[in-house]
Amino acid sequence: MEISHTTPRARKRHRCDHCGDMIEPGTVYDRTVDAWDGLRTFRSHVECAAAANDLHKIIEAGYEGVNLSCDLEIDDVPWLREDHPLVAARFKELCRAYDDAARRREEDLAKLPAAAIALIEEARRQQAARAAARLAATA
Ligand SMILES: [Zn+2]
Repeated sequence: MEISHTTPRARKRHRCDHCGDMIEPGTVYDRTVDAWDGLRTFRSHVECAAAANDLHKIIEAGYEGVNLSCDLEIDDVPWLREDHPLVAARFKELCRAYDDAARRREEDLAKLPAAAIALIEEARRQQAARAAARLAATA
């Protein structure tokens, strides 16, 4: 249950509970106090809170809370970059994993014609060998 939700200006450094980066003094941040398992204060960048709010709608989390550090998945990278570029920049590893996977997919596609040709040649070779064996058996 949410007790309070405010956007104060940070007086000291805090760590963002979504991305893990620092919230610097003087920065307006998102502060939620809730009572799930006792009182808990959740602090985050306002941009991270906005992205979490969107992700909450996308995955239809209902009453479940969303935490970007656990709930963001690799397939979320395109909309995150499009709608929340600042937050995407904070999730460097996830974005790098997405780019690596996309590059591997492209490399696999580029290899496909050669692999297909090799399969066809192998099938032809086996067919020729079976035909030769049949000929040898009847001879
Ligand atoms: Zn953050």
